[in-house]
Amino acid sequence: MSKYDLQICCIGAGYVGGPSSAVIAYKCPNVKVTIVDLNQARIDAWNSDNLPIYEPGLDEIVFACRGKNLFFSTDVDQAIIDADLIFVSVNTPTKKSGMGAGMAADLAYIETATRRIAQVATTSKVVIEKSTVPCRTAQSMRTILEANSSKDIRFDILSNPEFLAEGTAISDLTNPDRVLIGCLQTPEGFAAQKKLVDVYTRWIPKERVITMNLWSSELSKLAANALLAQRISSINALSAICEATGADVDEVAYACGTDSRIGPKFLKASVGFGGSCFQKDILNLVYLSEQLFLPEVAAYWKSVVTMNEYQKMRFTHRIVRTLFNTVTNKKIALLGFAFKKDTGDTRESAAITLSSYLIQERANVTIYDPKVSQKQIMMDLTEPGVGTNEADVNKHVTVCGSVYEACADAAAIVICTEWDEFKMDQTDYKKIFDSMQKPAFIFDGRLILDAPKLREIGFRVETIGKSI
Ligand code: NAD
Repeated sequence: MSKYDLQICCIGAGYVGGPSSAVIAYKCPNVKVTIVDLNQARIDAWNSDNLPIYEPGLDEIVFACRGKNLFFSTDVDQAIIDADLIFVSVNTPTKKSGMGAGMAADLAYIETATRRIAQVATTSKVVIEKSTVPCRTAQSMRTILEANSSKDIRFDILSNPEFLAEGTAISDLTNPDRVLIGCLQTPEGFAAQKKLVDVYTRWIPKERVITMNLWSSELSKLAANALLAQRISSINALSAICEATGADVDEVAYACGTDSRIGPKFLKASVGFGGSCFQKDILNLVYLSEQLFLPEVAAYWKSVVTMNEYQKMRFTHRIVRTLFNTVTNKKIALLGFAFKKDTGDTRESAAITLSSYLIQERANVTIYDPKVSQKQIMMDLTEPGVGTNEADVNKHVTVCGSVYEACADAAAIVICTEWDEFKMDQTDYKKIFDSMQKPAFIFDGRLILDAPKLREIGFRVETIGKSI
């Protein structure tokens, strides 16, 4: 007799599969959770003291359950064979080549994982689409699974998109606003849905576990990310008007956000959104709209991404313009490289665009981020398409171990990530000012600094969404 009342497998040990499945193990001691990945190094890291991703609270949860009811393995087949429920949490990046390149989601990883399930399963499974996918992907997964099912084995498919935000993943997972579970509206679909509802309601109030049809659930994930990104692009578009008119974007955001119909969240102007999801998911929606012959809808959503690109370049041009139209041989300190605070994830980070542009302008860029390694920074800046190569990076980039080291002797500081340690109560900006070339400039791309106080010290301050 097994000591577990349910066995779960999660295919994909990434930013979503790792934390989301670890939280299930933590909250459900009678459930055996095995997280599998083809990437041996990643699995080794999950099995070590140095987990492959940084997320506040994650270590405690993993260390509490690992080896008891939480396991990390590269044995994908065995985990599939043993599981009752299988989460598919693999990457779904934007295609880089081929038809729909630059917009369509690359579903190759989803298909490979689905085929593997179909090939090795020896008992019936509930297969759960956890990755973010174009609407109706579950139909393709179902077709692959059904083509391989026998009269003794059935596969039911659910959509259970993940809404965690990196940096707050553990609190998002332990106390989510809602969990979506979509199923086919058939008796078998409802029965499968109930199995997953029964897992989540072990710790989440049942009114927050929302059930719906498969396609609504798939589309809701894209819709939610598109709406969040749209708010950022909207406030960033307003920030450009603020800079040109003397309006202050913080005041405008406050004024708008106190309207209860609008609300205050996600109205912070910045150098632009990053992360692996917003841009990818909007492009996914754009592609879907085009496939559905809805060009105006596609253009509408595309403008959110266009605005984001514009914001990154607008800020970069402002830096160069302010530094007397040349950054050649100037030392510029970039504070923060992650796409946001409390994560080591740099995917689509605005810092990549910014630093690559400054390097191409022959600036000497010093970079400090508390959670991003030198290796990662070098990898990001030499990725094809970024605009900088290894020789440029070796010549123009220095990765530093502290804020003070990065800023010493610099002509300018650029705040790229809103890490708490860059705020004025945690960093001695007077000490930094004394160590810099004069005039000393600060460009606040995250609205975290007190510009009047910095000006008192002697800095020249340029802030997103503010003309003074
Ligand atoms: P990730 O790249 O960090 O992890 C995906 C993992 O899947 C990789 O480790 C890869 O090796 C593994 N993998 C791929 N194919 C496999 C296979 N056939 N068998 C076993 N392992 C395989 O990606 P992520 O950030 O965790 O995102 C996963 C999905 O979740 C994506 O669709 C993403 O859009 C979505 N999502 C991400 C976030 C986020 O904040 N990162 C939030 C919500 C949803």
